[in-house]
Amino acid sequence: MEKVRYFDHAATTYTKEEVLKEMLPYFSLNFGNASSIYSLGRKSRKAVEEAREKIAKAISASAKEIYFTSCGSESDNLAIKGVAYANKCKGNHIITTKIEHPAVLHTCQNLERQGFKVTYLNVDKEGLINLEELENSICDDTILISVMFANNEIGTIEPIKEIGQIAKKHGVCFHTDAVQAIGNVRINVEEMNIDLLSMSAHKFYGPKGMGALYVRNGVKFEKLQDGGHQERNMRAGTENVAGIVGIGKAIELAYDNFDKYNEKLISLRDYYISKVEEKIPFVKVNGHRQKRLPGNANISFKFVEGDAILLKLDAKGICASSGSACSTGSPSPSHVLLAIGLEPETAYGTLRVTFGEENTKEDVDYLLDTLEEVINNLRKNSKMYTEFMKKGQM
Ligand SMILES: *Cc1c(COP(=O)(O)O)cnc(C)c1O
Repeated sequence: MEKVRYFDHAATTYTKEEVLKEMLPYFSLNFGNASSIYSLGRKSRKAVEEAREKIAKAISASAKEIYFTSCGSESDNLAIKGVAYANKCKGNHIITTKIEHPAVLHTCQNLERQGFKVTYLNVDKEGLINLEELENSICDDTILISVMFANNEIGTIEPIKEIGQIAKKHGVCFHTDAVQAIGNVRINVEEMNIDLLSMSAHKFYGPKGMGALYVRNGVKFEKLQDGGHQERNMRAGTENVAGIVGIGKAIELAYDNFDKYNEKLISLRDYYISKVEEKIPFVKVNGHRQKRLPGNANISFKFVEGDAILLKLDAKGICASSGSACSTGSPSPSHVLLAIGLEPETAYGTLRVTFGEENTKEDVDYLLDTLEEVINNLRKNSKMYTEFMKKGQM
């Protein structure tokens, strides 16, 4: 097999060598239960609390506001259901958006089945919510606003600080799914008035199966899992010490190297987008041009199928995505692309490329050459395309 070129960092990243190195002793030598009082246990406890400090520091929170979970999805569930259940005597209305990750959307749908009311905010053509629509949706019963920090498919970064101000003004809790934003955007939960924030280690070069949730001091939420007293009684289960050490190290590295990483991704992304627009006709760049994740390029190629592009790219050793990993396999086009107003035919022809640390300009050139060839070939065999070209020439 030839070299694999990986352009799907929004789906997952590898665990960095330095992260893995810090994790390894906690699988074997330092295997103690963090709740045990002898020194082997205290060693684990110390590692857990150090990781908590690192996460808190990265988002300007305090350590006692951080809870460890098993993934981003669990953090979203704990935040949204936790706040909903704890505040149901105050009200039953939740505001979210149409472009959330399934971890948020399906959680909200679940709550609707339990009698909660949910408003799904629209987004504009670039994927941004309308702040006026948000403010107008707030009523006496509103207990939670949940808006993602940055979209996993189109990369658009929402106006989080402004949302935080509106939420604060109306005394409503504000949760953000920041799974795609951590390591890619600077986050300050104080300045941004964020009350709850979800993250997942495997999206920023940490291990899979490791998440965290920030909950502002004083925000009422209910635990979802019964058991021991771990995580200050809010998330039962023996701590995944190695994973916790991993997420701590990964977030520390992400923000230590932030400027360099950001600059690199932006330059690869902008180079890729400009070359695609230059070389390939009938394309549409999705998402906001400036307010977007540094490594995200989401482009629709008219007259072709995203999955067909993926398979051809895979045969050339290239990994990318035809939208969100979570919606592949389902026959309907991405809910995010429909929400920004794409026709289903256009949405189907979408390729999401997300750059990362190990990518080079040479990798991007290889991707561009391969993609141009793949799109040309697929279009040659597309009835829609041939008919369109015939009409155009009449
Ligand atoms: C990946 C992702 C999640 C889910 O995180 P897991 O750790 O895979 O459960 C949630 N929200 C967004 C925006 C994501 O990109």
